[in-house]
Amino acid sequence: MNGPVKKIDQAEYQKRLDRITEIFAGMVSHADTVSQTRCPYRDRHDHCTAEFRCRNQRPTDDVLTCGHDGAFDYRSAWDTNPDAYRRAKTKVAKIKTAAARRRAESGRTEDD
Ligand code: SF4
Repeated sequence: MNGPVKKIDQAEYQKRLDRITEIFAGMVSHADTVSQTRCPYRDRHDHCTAEFRCRNQRPTDDVLTCGHDGAFDYRSAWDTNPDAYRRAKTKVAKIKTAAARRRAESGRTEDD
């Protein structure tokens, strides 16, 4: 069902290629700027997705939240000690379990 292939206008092709390059260059430049103050492990809900311990992590109900305020280099808070990370995850799991227990005792569900 394909019709004959249209001949590509080289000038038009180059114009579109230049436009795409311009768009991507802008995206890369923006990402470069943002990455200087926003940690790549911080998701859009400000949750920390890192698989390691970081001093900026704040345990909340069921996740680790990022406490970095963008005022300094976030990488200095990273900790490569896997035991410290496991302790933080265990702490979050305990908080989550305790919160679930409290909800169950009060008759609420997680969606309430
Ligand atoms: S807590 Fe640390 S590792 Fe996690 S998102 Fe924030 S700065 Fe990044």
